[in-house]
Amino acid sequence: MLEVVQVPVLTDNYVYLAHDAASGETAVIDPAVAEPVLAAAAARGWTITQILNTHWHPDHVGGNAAIVTATGAKVTGPRDEAERIPGISRAVAAGDSIAVGASTARVIGVGAHTAGHIAYAFEADRVLFPGDTLFALGCGRLFEGTPADMFAALGKLMALAPETLVYCAHEYTQSNARFAVTVETDNAALKARVVAIDAARAQGLPTVPFTLAQEAASNPFVRARDAAELGVRRAAKDGFRG
Ligand code: ZN
Ligand code: FE
Repeated sequence: MLEVVQVPVLTDNYVYLAHDAASGETAVIDPAVAEPVLAAAAARGWTITQILNTHWHPDHVGGNAAIVTATGAKVTGPRDEAERIPGISRAVAAGDSIAVGASTARVIGVGAHTAGHIAYAFEADRVLFPGDTLFALGCGRLFEGTPADMFAALGKLMALAPETLVYCAHEYTQSNARFAVTVETDNAALKARVVAIDAARAQGLPTVPFTLAQEAASNPFVRARDAAELGVRRAAKDGFRG
């Protein structure tokens, strides 16, 4: 099984280490920067062997070059954005599989935040790295895709097992919550979650990871089909984050 370590960097980015103890392999997902990520790996006696990038934005690939220099890690990234992924050695697309030790991730195409954005789903481990596509109570801002693209992308992620833990790339939850409660004013699950989110943030604790089941119950962007009559679609056009 994968052990996932969260490394908070910059203002609100999360970089992740995914370690397979049996093989000793360690992947880093979306390294915005290098130094704190290398330090987090070294503190555990781990050597980074792979970098997995979800999309080309600098706060997801900024650490690639220095980590490759330090470790010789192989870089996997989205085929459709390959020319913008520093140090890329393996370009992948929807349907491809990649291995981290004994764990396997399926590559899911989720173009919307950026056109070639991919997610990595370690289905047997119940671990998802959606980059900037799905956030707690929100979704990524539409830089290169349409609302329909994003809705389709979210649907692919929500089709994974409900207990899947979601390791998204930003701590945007509290501001997403402020928006979500204006969309669904009567959702008890959402209200309870917002209380827990505010309590966690008051203590400086992360609200990530979270489960797909939580999103199904309270994220207005994944609930848009069911909740259209509540005004989700109308409200959503001003609510994208990323
Ligand atoms: Zn981004
Ligand atoms: Fe980002």
